[in-house]
Amino acid sequence: MTTHHIAVIPGDGIGLEVTPAALEVVQAAGRRHGFGFRFTEFDWSCERYRREGAMMPPDALERLRGHDAIFLGAVGAPGVPDHVSLWGLLIPIRRAFRQYVNLRPVRLFEGIESPVRAAIDLVVVRENTEGEYSEIGGRMNRGFPEEMAVQEAVFTRAGVTRVLDYAFTLASRRTGYLTSATKSNGIVHTLPFWDELVRERAADHPNVRWDQEHIDALCAKLVLEPSRFDVIVGSNLFGDILSDLAAAVAGSIGLAPSANLNPERDFPSMFEPVHGSAPDIAGRGVANPIGAIWSAAMMLEHLGHPAAADEVVAAIAAILAKGDLRTRDLGGTASTEQFTRAVLALLTP
Ligand code: ATP
Ligand code: MG
Repeated sequence: MTTHHIAVIPGDGIGLEVTPAALEVVQAAGRRHGFGFRFTEFDWSCERYRREGAMMPPDALERLRGHDAIFLGAVGAPGVPDHVSLWGLLIPIRRAFRQYVNLRPVRLFEGIESPVRAAIDLVVVRENTEGEYSEIGGRMNRGFPEEMAVQEAVFTRAGVTRVLDYAFTLASRRTGYLTSATKSNGIVHTLPFWDELVRERAADHPNVRWDQEHIDALCAKLVLEPSRFDVIVGSNLFGDILSDLAAAVAGSIGLAPSANLNPERDFPSMFEPVHGSAPDIAGRGVANPIGAIWSAAMMLEHLGHPAAADEVVAAIAAILAKGDLRTRDLGGTASTEQFTRAVLALLTP
């Protein structure tokens, strides 16, 4: 029997509640399909940062490296600035393991209230290692009338090409339609370069129809007519904004999954729900586990078990469609545990 070795970082807040739910579900899926897991848990978190002054130990990346995948709950805590959890854990892992694709599927499930009335089934492909989130720049003349801040964005041919190739290939496996997010009318160096590379890559994927939209218009269309989109590819910043917007349109941030993928598989990929540690509801057992369970399903697919992954997502869809069991963020009263039990009940051998 295949055993997958998974590094598990439950993190903080509701990360500690939704992670066990997700792991139980993938284990159940494994029992049905004849594979197993060995989980190694790491307590890297804002809690650890408070205790020891760092989110992770110095040899953290070495320790993660040999695993088949990483599962992350959520990191963040009141009083710890976001940049500590971002730059102390998420960004080093994404960069060191070349997880340059951030994949965020968005679906409007039957039975979910949405601000829009439309069928939604799309994937946002976000560039995950360069772009607008760079440390290059600085502040000058602090406190003076001439005060200024400069922030550089970094777009490399290699970095943009690889994420575009991933997105075009994904589009060809889905409906064959790709939308590129841009703003080359206002940003005159980086985004025209991005557009040129899109055209270049498109030539190598003649089976994919593609369009480009300026980010402002794209946000409006995503709300007004989300059904027309399938794969949307964007830079680090644009992809971030689009996936939160799309997740909100599809009902609740508690539903949204994500994968930080290393498509070459020379390093582990990392799977995590889109939501944060949600300190306002942490510790009460009421968090929606769907984002975490769906992220774990993406991990199953990455590990070579697409049928098992589909069954997990189908179980979530079936429970939501039935309509009698929902967590509070979706207007129900079910606990994390009750919802998870319902998923497990549909996955028994
Ligand atoms: P962090 O600082 O870790 O990013 P946050 O509070 O800024 O945390 P989220 O954790 O994403 O951001 O929470 C935003 C809102 O959505 C909160 O009100 C939270 O309670 C709610 N929320 C997030 N995830 C869930 C979930 N899984 N189930 C229910 N509600 C959720
Ligand atoms: Mg937050």
